Amino acid sequence: MTNRHLVIVLGDQLDLEASAFDGFDPAQDCVWMAEVAQESTHVPSAKPRIALFLSAMRHFAQALRERQWPLAYTRLDDKGNCGWLAGELRLAIARLQPAALVMTAPGDWRVLQSLREVAADCGLPLDIRDDRHFFSTVREFAEHAKGRKQLRLEYWYRALRQKHGILMDDGQPAGGQWNFDADNREAFGKTGPAGLRAPLRFEPDATTREVLALVGSRFADHAGALESFGWPVTRAQALQALEDFIAHRLPLFGRFEDAMWAGEPWLYHSQLSAAMNLKLLTACEVVQAAEHAWRTGSAPIEAVEGFIRQILGWREYVRGIYWTQMPSYLERNALQAQEPLPEFFWTGDTDMACLRDALTQTLTHGYAHHIQRLMVTGLYLLLRGVKPQEAHAWYLSVYVDAVEWVELPNTLGMSQYGDGGLMASKPYIASGKYIQRMGNHCKGCRYDPAQATGPTACPYTTLYWDFLMRHETLLASNPRMGMQVRNLARLTPDKREAIRAQAQRLTPE
Ligand SMILES: Cc1cc2nc3c(=O)[nH]c(=O)nc-3n(C[C@H](O)[C@H](O)[C@H](O)COP(=O)(O)OP(=O)(O)OC[C@H]3O[C@@H](n4cnc5c(N)ncnc54)[C@H](O)[C@@H]3O)c2cc1C
Ligand code: SF4
Repeated sequence: MTNRHLVIVLGDQLDLEASAFDGFDPAQDCVWMAEVAQESTHVPSAKPRIALFLSAMRHFAQALRERQWPLAYTRLDDKGNCGWLAGELRLAIARLQPAALVMTAPGDWRVLQSLREVAADCGLPLDIRDDRHFFSTVREFAEHAKGRKQLRLEYWYRALRQKHGILMDDGQPAGGQWNFDADNREAFGKTGPAGLRAPLRFEPDATTREVLALVGSRFADHAGALESFGWPVTRAQALQALEDFIAHRLPLFGRFEDAMWAGEPWLYHSQLSAAMNLKLLTACEVVQAAEHAWRTGSAPIEAVEGFIRQILGWREYVRGIYWTQMPSYLERNALQAQEPLPEFFWTGDTDMACLRDALTQTLTHGYAHHIQRLMVTGLYLLLRGVKPQEAHAWYLSVYVDAVEWVELPNTLGMSQYGDGGLMASKPYIASGKYIQRMGNHCKGCRYDPAQATGPTACPYTTLYWDFLMRHETLLASNPRMGMQVRNLARLTPDKREAIRAQAQRLTPE
């Protein structure tokens, strides 16, 4: 069928305009895609995540067929599917005999190595092209990082805004400031979020229903639920989801970016990460849509800058960290944390109201917003001393937007301080009082965030003080931790002992 290029398309590369297709000639090239069990089991992926990837892949395959582009596609349930990506690629090469392999740079170091190995073994050139879904290349990030001991978001973000003219007016930051973070930390107050409108949900079509049935039976023992699956699985749906966010939630995105509310998983967040990570949307079109909303007066600068900072800033920055630090980054464990992941992270079965809410929605939808990931689930694992590699495997499994290039730096670096401060200038630690301030969970909880010891002590508060004690020497040398460490001095030896004993009762369960 083909003897020129076999164009490799992975499950997170679903863009007809991808660089891999530059120069594609249907007369002599063929696209290759494969659904393999290994990608759902190397970490035990939760059902919503598997379903999203498979459904989006099948819809993309359909779009390729409509273009009448030659496609070699292996389905998960095809007879003879060997179950792993490299193995399937070898079979396709043997069958199709291409002269070269072409692909857009993948998002996962492990996958890149295995595909390189196949190409080398088969004696084929592998042409890896830049991923145009990002504003920057890894080479640019590496250049920016050269000679810096610590990598901080702010300078990278400003450089990208200037280079790409995003939110810039005559060379100056739009609205007169680079950063509106100070305006973006509000909690909801007693009455909670006003005028919430549920984000668009896409009713599963026949292709998605088939995938849901397959995932339900083939991965029956994996965590997570499929009943409420409604993620965008095509580019057209992703564009609708973008439009819906810009019109209805962006205006309040900034103010309440860090806020939480019991039983409200979506709030004013975009839920666009999965669509962007699967490449159904480009980061550029999302950023441009947000900037347009500000320029046309439909969203305030605080919201728009806050939102753009997440994408042009954080998203580009964590990608740079990942590719410049791998593979050793995966092994880092600066705090020498060795506890296993608590079993209830796979079920949500805990009496901590904030954590139960975050885990339940995670398992139901494959989604939690950033502050829940960082300051509820992540904070709990950090305080409890869970091994960062166990935390990483969990985050990579459960979220529909989880791809290693973005998940690993967020988990191991930002949330678990496993890289010892490369990404975050201090560990993100707080007691239960932070969670109390940012939402309403504590009201419905059997624990009291003000108590570190005793029968109603909030586990976050107990573990917070215990964490400070465990790492006192290390933290004392961090200028940004000074106040928190000094507060330890107020604890009497008896109180310290009581906290330590209570913390030990919390681990293991
Ligand atoms: C422990 C942990 C694990 C995470 N794992 C992932 C992951 O696997 N995949 C993923 O895409 N994001 C991850 N994030 C970042 C962030 O939490 C999610 O991008 C965000 O919650 C997705 O929801 P949303 O689309 O509604 O985001 P919004 O709140 O609407 O934000 C807008 C967009 O900004 C981008 N963004 C926001 N924060 C970050 C960030 N810290 N890093 C990179 N991009 C960001 C996302 O593309 C997101 O869609 C993680 C964060 C933490 C703390
Ligand atoms: S009291 Fe503690 S465990 Fe309960 S909701 Fe508040 S922070 Fe969470």
